[in-house]
Amino acid sequence: MSSPELADKICSRSELAGRIAALPKPLVFTNGVFDVLHRGHVQYLHAARQLGGSLVLGLNSDVSARLLGKGPDRPLNRADDRAMVLAALASVSLVTFFDERTPVSLIRVVRPDVYVKGGDYDMERLEETKVVREWGGQALAIPFVDGYSTTSLVQRIRAGRVLRKAAFLDRDGVINLDRAYVHRWEDFEFVPGAVDAMRRLAEAGYALVVVTNQSGIARGMYTETQYQTLTQHLREHLVAQGVPLAGVYHCPHHPSGKVFEFARDCDCRKPAPGLILRAAKELGLSLPDSLLVGDKPSDIHAARAAGVGKAYIVDSDNAESGQDATVAADGHYRDLQRCVSAVLDA
Ligand SMILES: [Zn+2]
Repeated sequence: MSSPELADKICSRSELAGRIAALPKPLVFTNGVFDVLHRGHVQYLHAARQLGGSLVLGLNSDVSARLLGKGPDRPLNRADDRAMVLAALASVSLVTFFDERTPVSLIRVVRPDVYVKGGDYDMERLEETKVVREWGGQALAIPFVDGYSTTSLVQRIRAGRVLRKAAFLDRDGVINLDRAYVHRWEDFEFVPGAVDAMRRLAEAGYALVVVTNQSGIARGMYTETQYQTLTQHLREHLVAQGVPLAGVYHCPHHPSGKVFEFARDCDCRKPAPGLILRAAKELGLSLPDSLLVGDKPSDIHAARAAGVGKAYIVDSDNAESGQDATVAADGHYRDLQRCVSAVLDA
C-alpha cells in the first residue's frame, strides 16, 4: 500500500516535537535496527505498544547500526527502507532516526512515559533508564520471542540451511494417468489440470518433488535407462511450461523382481519412507512444512513414516485406493487439481 499515511509515520528530528505532542499518551518509546523484520520483532513491538497509547520507534540510522558491529555488511537494509516496513505495522505510531550508538539524546527529545528495551537487559545499568526517570518515566525490558533473530537468519541463509517446504507428488495416477508400468514418453498422458496444479504449488513456495515406485524395473518390464529417458522428457516438458521439478526420486526395487540387482527388499519402496527422506536430505527440505499427494495407501503411509506434515489422497482407478487410505489421509480429492485448490485456498 502506498498511501500517504505510511510515509507520514516517518519523521525527522526537526519535526519530532510537534508530531509527538499530537500522539495519544502514555507515550511508549523503543529503539532498534530491525534490519530484516521477523516475527520476533513484530511480537515485541506489539507488546511494547500495549504498554501505552502510542509507540514511538527510534531507528538506528545506517551509521548508528554500523557502530553496533554486527558485521561489515550490516545493516542489510537501508534506514529509509527499514523505516517504511516498520511504518506499515499497526503497533508503530511514529518512526524516527538516531545517528549515535545509543538513543539517549533522542529519548531526551521524545520524553516517553515508558522506555522499552527488547531483550534480557539489566535496565538498572542502562543510561536510558536514568534519563527517563528524570521526568518520572519508567523503563522496562521485554524479552524477545525465542528462536528469532536477524543475525541467526542471515547465518542460516549463508550456510544454505534455510529449509524449503516441498510438495511430494506420486507420479503414476497423480501427475499422469496410471496406465500400468508407463515407461515411454508416448504413453505418458498428464492427468487433466495436473500441470496447472503443480505450477500453483510452485508459486506457493513448494519445491516440487516426484517420489515414485518403479518396480517395473525390477520386474524387467523396462530398464533403468528407459525410466531415466522418460524422466528427462518429463522434466523438460515441465520446465518449458514454467514448472521446474526440484527432484525426481524413484525406487527401482521389488522383493520378487526378476532382475537380479533390483530384486530385493529396500528402504525406498513406498510405504517405506526412504525416497522422501533422501529428497529431504539432498534438497534441504522441511518435512513438517511439506505435503504429499498420492493415490495409494502406501503413499500416505510413506508420508507418515517420513514425518511429512500433510498427506492427501486422490482417486484413481487403482483398486488399492480404498477406505483405509481415505481415513488415514488429511484429505481425499478427485484429482491433483482439486486437491491443490482445496489446500491452497483453505
Ligand atoms: Zn527401493
